[in-house]
Amino acid sequence: MDCSGCSACLFSWGLRNKRHCILNEQYSPEEYTKKAQELRTGSYAAFSAAQREFAGVRLNCIRKAVHSVQSEECIGDYLQNCKACVACFNALDSQDCRYMYDGVSCKDCGDCNEMGYSELCYDVVEAFPEAYSVLWSFLTANTSDMQYCDHCYNSKHLFGCVGIRKGEYCILNKQYSKEEFEKLIPKIIEKMIVDGEWGEFLPVAMSPFAYNETVAQEAFPLTKGEAEKRGWQWRDAEEKQSQYLGPDYAIPDVITNAPDAIIEKILRCAVTGKPYKIIPQELKFYRDMGLPVPRMCPEERHRERMALRNPRKLWNRECAKCSKAIETTYAPERPEIVYCESCYLSSVY
Ligand SMILES: [Zn+2]
Repeated sequence: MDCSGCSACLFSWGLRNKRHCILNEQYSPEEYTKKAQELRTGSYAAFSAAQREFAGVRLNCIRKAVHSVQSEECIGDYLQNCKACVACFNALDSQDCRYMYDGVSCKDCGDCNEMGYSELCYDVVEAFPEAYSVLWSFLTANTSDMQYCDHCYNSKHLFGCVGIRKGEYCILNKQYSKEEFEKLIPKIIEKMIVDGEWGEFLPVAMSPFAYNETVAQEAFPLTKGEAEKRGWQWRDAEEKQSQYLGPDYAIPDVITNAPDAIIEKILRCAVTGKPYKIIPQELKFYRDMGLPVPRMCPEERHRERMALRNPRKLWNRECAKCSKAIETTYAPERPEIVYCESCYLSSVY
């Protein structure tokens, strides 16, 4: 990870223009081929040992305060080719956005999540692509001048609508003329201001998912009690998921010893105990790549991958080299060595 201009490298971090490195150690091409083959035997024991060793390598590597590249006047992380974006995370080719997560080619958007090629949007969840002047809405594409709408596409001039396709001048899914629409909207807004509804996002009760079923739980994890205290739904895992009482199948250490029949077996997650299975395409992939059959259920593997990303939160910290104040997504108590951008660049190049 954090390698660039590298090829033929394994389990390495923070390298530039390198070849034939394993666990950040330089090898000759012959030594590299031999050692790489040892790691690619598909043995779970060997792979796990390399992963543990890699964790030690990672801890000793220098980290940049944030992972953003080619971005200027920005505050946030995982930004690429962005300008003047504040409190934004995971954005690409965007400009003048605020509090936007997961955006591509957006301009002047605020309080938005999962956005693409959109402009002048506020409080919107998933507009992809091309939303223009869309406010307080959920799931849309190719729309403009839309407020308080849900699942509306290829439309314009909508208010409080659900599921409209190729529509215009509709309020609460009812068709109006342009003149009627423009006359009614100010009256509705006036009433909503009086009722304290104007400017607020759609009520959380409309969410078809419980908090812990959404990506919000990955970025901003809450306990069941914390979510319910806020009045948000929570869904416990279905009982049947943990009711498998059959024999535990012992997964062979090496992938070449895994029989075709393993796809029929019920495997048990080494972390959560949850039963899971693998599918034929998955087995073929592991065999082709020389990887062992995973010991964790898909959800736990997803959680482990997500944990590699830094949280969507900034802390004040000091550069570990020059002591300059930095804003970083590495919490102060984390053990990684975190540098300001100039110290990082002078160290890795
Ligand atoms: Zn520094």
